Amino acid sequence: MAQIRTVKCPQCGASVRWVPENRFRPFCSERCKQIDLGAWASEDYRVPAAAEGDPGEQSPSGRSTQD
Ligand SMILES: [Zn+2]
Repeated sequence: MAQIRTVKCPQCGASVRWVPENRFRPFCSERCKQIDLGAWASEDYRVPAAAEGDPGEQSPSGRSTQD
């Protein structure tokens, strides 16, 4: 019996089966995927690991993200 790997949806934390037919992996659904992409696009996304202690609102150069 093949084991199906599961991951957690980065958006809502739901269990997601990592299978080829899941087009939205690692997200659980298109909705979560769109939410995540939308957040990136609006630069309102905060990555905990990338937190540099600077809110960014007062940075002279503004954007510190390069990618
Ligand atoms: Zn989700």
